[in-house]
Parts: sequence; C-alpha cells; structure tokens
Amino acid sequence: MEQRIDRIKKQLHSQSYKLTPQREATVRVLLENEKDHLSAEDVYLLVKEKAPEIGLATVYRTLELLNELEVVDKINFGDGVSRYDLRKEGADHFHHHLVCIECGSVDEIQEDLLGEVEKIVENDWRFKIKDHRLTFHGICYRCHEKQDTGEESGSEVKEMN
Ligand SMILES: [Zn+2]
Ligand SMILES: [Zn+2]
Ligand SMILES: [Zn+2]
Repeated sequence: MEQRIDRIKKQLHSQSYKLTPQREATVRVLLENEKDHLSAEDVYLLVKEKAPEIGLATVYRTLELLNELEVVDKINFGDGVSRYDLRKEGADHFHHHLVCIECGSVDEIQEDLLGEVEKIVENDWRFKIKDHRLTFHGICYRCHEKQDTGEESGSEVKEMN
C-alpha cells in the first residue's frame, strides 16, 4: 500500500501536482476499498473518518484530478451514479465488469480478452483504440448457486400447477 501511494505521489509530481494530506487520505480510501466501486459520496464519507475537516468538493476535485491522471477510471453502471475505480497498474486498458441484475454485485475481469475484437476494430474501422468499457449484465454465480440449491424443487412444482 505504501509503495503504491509512493508511485501515485510520483505520478502527481510528474504533472506538477502535490499529494496533499487530503489527497492522500482520498487515495488511501480508494486503495483500502479497491474491490468496491465507490461514488464520490461514498469516498467522501470514508475520507471524513480519517480527515474530518475535508469537504465533499475537495474530495470531488481530487477524484477528478486522479481521473485526469489515469489513476482512477470513472464508470457508470446505468444507475446514473459515477463511480471511481482504481486502474490496475500496468494495464493498457480498463478492466471489465460483471453486473448481476439479481443481487447488484459487481465482479471484475482483469484479463483484457479483447485481442481479436480490437484487431478487427483497428483494421476494419481504422480506429486506434486507447481504451474501452465493457459491462456484462446478467446473473452471477452466487445467485445461480442459490437458485440451484434452494428453490429448485419448489419452483418446479409451481410451474406444473
Ligand atoms: Zn472495476
Ligand atoms: Zn483491451
Ligand atoms: Zn447475483
């Protein structure tokens, strides 16, 4: 975590920004909740626990700055809320998301998997790909398991009536 913060600090410095204590508190919250997809308000509430004097506007500006510097990516899963997602270090493109329409969970696929598709887009459309967003909507394995174990016999009987 400290090394990661150090590298982010250097990244900011290279663009003549400082990692102020408030910015650092924001980065820490993002790192501590790397698996989550937090909105600006979510981040704000967590940062406030570390730095009670911080305001939502400051957190928001910091998130926008980190987005500009490609430390975080902004993503929207269709609920109108912008979420901030740490970019994986060394990844050329943004990771993919699996959004469950039953329980609302969001899983991540870190492998790009799009090599062939990108080749077609670059050749046939003469389009130089810089990044992409890929969100799958469906039913996660946890919900599948729940359906398989719990309700199977019950629902079959219901359908037969
Ligand atoms: Zn993500
Ligand atoms: Zn890609
Ligand atoms: Zn689910």
